Amino acid sequence: MNCPECDGKLNIPDDAAVGEIISCPDCGSDYEISKKDGSNIELKLAEKVGEDWGE
Ligand SMILES: [Zn+2]
Repeated sequence: MNCPECDGKLNIPDDAAVGEIISCPDCGSDYEISKKDGSNIELKLAEKVGEDWGE
């Protein structure tokens, strides 16, 4: 999986869970795992200040 921002390689652990935050080592963007289906992972940009962190 590559970073949507800079196309750098993201290190996502095999056991990463939905809701986990992944940081891009290249550009520093934070992503939250929004969906996981086997090895198919979807990311969304993590909000720095969110109203709905608890979901
Ligand atoms: Zn990046």
